[in-house]
Amino acid sequence: MNMKAIKILLTVALPAVLGLTSCYNNEDNAVETAVQSTGINISNLDQTVRPSDDFYEYANGGWMRSHPLPAAYSRYGTFDELEEENSTRIKGILDDLQGSSFAAGTTEQKLYDLYGLAMDQDRRNGDGVKPLMGLIEQMEAAATSEDLFEIQLALAPLGYSAFITAEFTADEKNATQNILRVKQGGITLEQKEYYLNTDAANTSIREAYKQNIVKMLQLFGFTAEQATQKMANIVRLETELAKVSRTQTELRDPEANYNKMTLAQFNANYPNVQIEKVMNAMGARSAYIQELVVAQPEFVAGVNNLIATMTADEYRDYMEWIQINKAARYLDDEAEATYFEFFGKVLSGRQEDYPLWQRATLQIEDNMGEALGKLYVERYFPPAAKERMLQLVRNLQTALSERFDAQDWMSSATKAAAKEKLNAFIVKVGYPDKWTDMSALNIDTQKSYYENFLECRRFWNAYTMEQKAGKPVDRSAWQMTPQTVNAYYEPTTNEICFPAGILQYPFFDMEADDAFNYGAIGVVIGHEMTHAFDDEGHMYDKDGNLKNWWTPEDEAKFKEKADMYAAFYDAILVLPDLHANGRMTLGENLADHGGLQVAWTAYKNATAGQTLPTADGLTADQRFFLANASLWAQNITEEEIRRRTITDVHSIGRWRVNGAFPHIDAWYDTYDVKEGDKMFLPKAERLDLW
Ligand SMILES: [Zn+2]
Repeated sequence: MNMKAIKILLTVALPAVLGLTSCYNNEDNAVETAVQSTGINISNLDQTVRPSDDFYEYANGGWMRSHPLPAAYSRYGTFDELEEENSTRIKGILDDLQGSSFAAGTTEQKLYDLYGLAMDQDRRNGDGVKPLMGLIEQMEAAATSEDLFEIQLALAPLGYSAFITAEFTADEKNATQNILRVKQGGITLEQKEYYLNTDAANTSIREAYKQNIVKMLQLFGFTAEQATQKMANIVRLETELAKVSRTQTELRDPEANYNKMTLAQFNANYPNVQIEKVMNAMGARSAYIQELVVAQPEFVAGVNNLIATMTADEYRDYMEWIQINKAARYLDDEAEATYFEFFGKVLSGRQEDYPLWQRATLQIEDNMGEALGKLYVERYFPPAAKERMLQLVRNLQTALSERFDAQDWMSSATKAAAKEKLNAFIVKVGYPDKWTDMSALNIDTQKSYYENFLECRRFWNAYTMEQKAGKPVDRSAWQMTPQTVNAYYEPTTNEICFPAGILQYPFFDMEADDAFNYGAIGVVIGHEMTHAFDDEGHMYDKDGNLKNWWTPEDEAKFKEKADMYAAFYDAILVLPDLHANGRMTLGENLADHGGLQVAWTAYKNATAGQTLPTADGLTADQRFFLANASLWAQNITEEEIRRRTITDVHSIGRWRVNGAFPHIDAWYDTYDVKEGDKMFLPKAERLDLW
């Protein structure tokens, strides 16, 4: 949904294609291994472009030309390329399971059966939309809003709550304990701009969405006339919710999104939400929700008002649409294709859908991802990689500490507190120490694929309630599966996490030199560490509590520098008629900046006294920046640039290079960038933060 507490490295649309060979065949787990390769593929460059004029094109022009956008993708980059390789590996694991036999109730049997159901296209097409029709008929038969509310409660054990999102998560002001958090949700397009903006691009997306609802509803037996009437009701309700929703930028203010109250106060403020009944139905006892956090009060007030004023027909049509839209990809080809027409083509500019095996693999990952991850790391993650990563993380921690010392704008009191926070990081690498017990999940091949998907939802909802409601925060839990090509920082536990999936080329190469590894995974590590000190993360203390530890003077200086950086990105044109959103992407841009600064320092520490050789006419220092820029090589559709500029807190790949590098002094020295070069910024206009 639209409010993740964790800070991830990038937002992945969906996985990617093509193969890369991984680079793990080295038994040597020494940290500073002998140089064996540069890790740089010279054919990925475009050396007709001057690096000081357009570094992104210089570093990635060759790659972009040799990797035209595949029809199934709205964005395809080196990140996606690695994701695609991972998908192929996961498919291999699932295919291998098909050749074996497993005792009933084992996780392998469940993976095997769920994948088999997903791949059985004939059976899925034979069933059509029938697996969902029982629920639709039940809703059609409900006469009143009270009857419909009973159906809503019956769906709660599957983790569904109408209009709002309700979940247990760390209490940001008492971070060792979980608390119920009620937040905005309930709009299919997830961002308010799609419902409210009146520019040409958004208006045409909105019209296409309306047509898509009408078309989809007809697959479920409604006439064109009925479907059109239902569409009007659905769009009206979602638009009302959009009006009281906050933007992505507004959601990035932790204090403004923290409003603690008692259950009695909640009931007095928002009686129509009937939160206690909803949560009880979801499996949380009343004792565990006596205090709760309302993330966006005006949204919940809007929902309270909407419930009082909507008709039973509107309520019914809205609930039907939510269920249909979530089910579409688990039903037959026609429903899947109709879903893709809008959510794939219109919203993102993808020309075609992924093949069945890839859709199936993704869905198994969505529902049983960690179980797959256990098999994945057994096969693909060498222990030596973990050792080397832990050493790199320690080196980056040392470097960030040195960066704090080097700042003359920060007082010694704030520096000391910053170091305490830095030294308190929980570091997670590869895969979790304990695996989720999935014995309570029941996968039954007598039932349809869709019904088994619901069983997965039932399992995860019950598991989450058991783990979190009324319980302390489990600081050993992971928020990503091991095979994920990504990384995160979680402010409420002050943890950085690097799953096995990202510890591969082009991020990490056991055989490559320090210039490469510090420029690639080193910057990623520094990026996640810097999130602890970005415009949002710096508001949490070393224990994960939302509690200010800055002196007022230092806080004011930090804010001034951050504001300048937001204004720099605001001025960037991502399309001829569209500016970047510097405020929404500020945390990520600050993390990219810090990542580069800290990794550069760590790289210089690691190679002190050494002279790394020049290769292909490139010095080691030049390769540091190339290794980093290559992570963001990508081709992307215009639609996807528009979509991400509304939804994604990360900058577009081009600007993670061409926006970030002009603020790094070491880059000027390394590439001899001078006044008059297109990317040149006067020293006074560069971010001087870490
Ligand atoms: Zn990030």
